[in-house]
Amino acid sequence: MNETSIAHSSHQVLLYYLYTPIEDPESYAEKHRELCQSLELRGRIIVGTEGINGTVSGTTENTQNYIKAMHGDLVTEKMEFKIDPSDKHTFPKLSIKVRDEIVRLGLPGEEDIDPNELTGERLSPREFYEKMQEENTVIIDGRNDYEAKLGHFKDAICPPIGNFREFPEWLDENREELKGKKILTYCTGGIRCEKLSGFLKKEGFDDVYQLDGGIVKYGKDPEVQGRDFEGLCYVFDERVEVEVNHTETQKVITHCRHCGTEFPHYGNCRWPECNDQIIVCSDCRESFGLFCGEECRASKEASEA
Ligand SMILES: [Zn+2]
Ligand SMILES: [Zn+2]
Repeated sequence: MNETSIAHSSHQVLLYYLYTPIEDPESYAEKHRELCQSLELRGRIIVGTEGINGTVSGTTENTQNYIKAMHGDLVTEKMEFKIDPSDKHTFPKLSIKVRDEIVRLGLPGEEDIDPNELTGERLSPREFYEKMQEENTVIIDGRNDYEAKLGHFKDAICPPIGNFREFPEWLDENREELKGKKILTYCTGGIRCEKLSGFLKKEGFDDVYQLDGGIVKYGKDPEVQGRDFEGLCYVFDERVEVEVNHTETQKVITHCRHCGTEFPHYGNCRWPECNDQIIVCSDCRESFGLFCGEECRASKEASEA
């Protein structure tokens, strides 16, 4: 679905970013808050001098008006939106924050990557799919380990990191493995790879590519239809996960932590002080409960006694 089509759903979820200079992020954020509040949008938006990064939910009418407003503003007229239909809000509230980086890679000051100056070559979903089939290619998942665990591209390297800021260190330790290879990077909506692929180039890798629009756009592409993405795509809202692969190559890659049965969904451990995202199948949820293990279950029971 592209941004000009109106979904036949009561609500929509938008995902978007743009690296573009914003001179006074504080006042920009304040004005933007008024716009979002007038449209009763909810979600998370980060504004910085390097641009804007957001995901919001709202009624279909209000989200369409939001897109119109953004496209009518010189700063954000080039914004590309990924749109998912929904039957409700997917965020509990609106949060707009000003940050140094709209995605934090955490490189010191002048070493920070400006994707408008240095970034990997952008590939369309089709080009990315074709490039994956080529010899001497490695695919790097540019997300955190708990996102990649739920679903990732077939044969992708999924770095064991809990935060994007840990990438530079991971790269230092895995440099040899990537040497002389064509490197493909991907993330949820594309924003992290803008910096990650730029960082790889800065670190001396020449053949670096990024999936334009990320997994979300790849799943909506009418031609590739998410082909060879295995599992589900983790999202940072109440949906937790969205489907990507609409072809026969889709499969479940996650297993229940208790019985080992294939099971595709995360759930939060019911012991509130734990609340970890874990994979527990429906049967085990029924017989044992949605808990990491005996310890969390006992703690919850004790708290209710
Ligand atoms: Zn189970
Ligand atoms: Zn737990």
